[in-house]
Amino acid sequence: MASGPQRRRVTIFLISVLIPAVVLIGLAIQLYRQQQKLIEQELEKHAGPAHTAAEIHSVYRESNLRFAFYGCAVFLALSVTLFCRYVVWQDYRRETELADLRSQFVAHVSHELRTPLTSIQMFAETLALGRVADPEKQREYLETIARESERLARLVDQVLAFSKIEQGRMDYRLQALPLVPIVEAAVQAVGPSLAQQGFAFRRDYCGCAPMVRADADALEQAILNLLTNAMKYSSDSRDIELRLHQSDGEAIVEVLDQGVGVPEELRERIFEKFFRAPASAQTMAAGSVPGVGLGLTVVAHVAAAHGGRVEVRNNEPKGSVFSLILPIDQKL
Ligand code: ADP
Repeated sequence: MASGPQRRRVTIFLISVLIPAVVLIGLAIQLYRQQQKLIEQELEKHAGPAHTAAEIHSVYRESNLRFAFYGCAVFLALSVTLFCRYVVWQDYRRETELADLRSQFVAHVSHELRTPLTSIQMFAETLALGRVADPEKQREYLETIARESERLARLVDQVLAFSKIEQGRMDYRLQALPLVPIVEAAVQAVGPSLAQQGFAFRRDYCGCAPMVRADADALEQAILNLLTNAMKYSSDSRDIELRLHQSDGEAIVEVLDQGVGVPEELRERIFEKFFRAPASAQTMAAGSVPGVGLGLTVVAHVAAAHGGRVEVRNNEPKGSVFSLILPIDQKL
């Protein structure tokens, strides 16, 4: 829905296009009429035996041709003006959309920081006041503090990685490495959360051991993002799978979930910075799932920096499959 100021800008834009167009068209009609009148007057003045019907017709035709030429020139100028205005308008729309997404991002980040901080503060204070005598409960509280701190650290890492990408300062140190240990490190990092949330997690490394030129930390972060997204957007399903296979000189890491899925029309947009699928586009409101809209932007950047790409498709019977595709290092 367009906001008040935006509607006003649209109206001003339309007026600024329509008024010159109407004035130019009106002038052209007026000019045509005057020209016809002038020709008629001229012919009447010099009417005589010298003017045959063919001559009169040729005067009209010549003048009409001239008018058509001027008309085309005006039409061309108008079209170029309109086209330029359209391009400027598109740019402006993209800018305002990005500004909206940016302010939503700030709200999301603040919310994402606030939530774990509140629970860390609450559990730490409860423990510090010695209100919990039961060692089992104490352990539970400490585990929550550790988990929430990890969540905070992950968010901060994500924002830092994104900020480096934006400033063009992201420095990938690529070296020939086996892919399986990197994938396994990401799986281990997310393992406790998977278990705690009751996910059935399967992994299949197809018995292959591809070598890739990779920055281990960046690649681990990318796979971790895909795994945490699979958890976040699983809705009621508790089924996640990770597959590794290779074909045509490429290693493919696939994360499969049975969750809400990604609508066809959003499959490119979800990789844009700050973008989160709107509530209506998914059965689960994006607002109800924690996130700031940067995870996939980072994944796409990491994939590209490794000479690879990331793709998304439907899973069967529901959910999505995210594939991180990397070139295999053939030199070894
Ligand atoms: P965030 O998860 O923080 O919103 P991401 O960049 O990781 O940001 O993802 C962008 C959007 O892509 C998400 O808001 C969500 O709508 C969609 N998305 C990502 N992963 C999945 C998934 N596994 N299933 C369904 N939708 C997903």
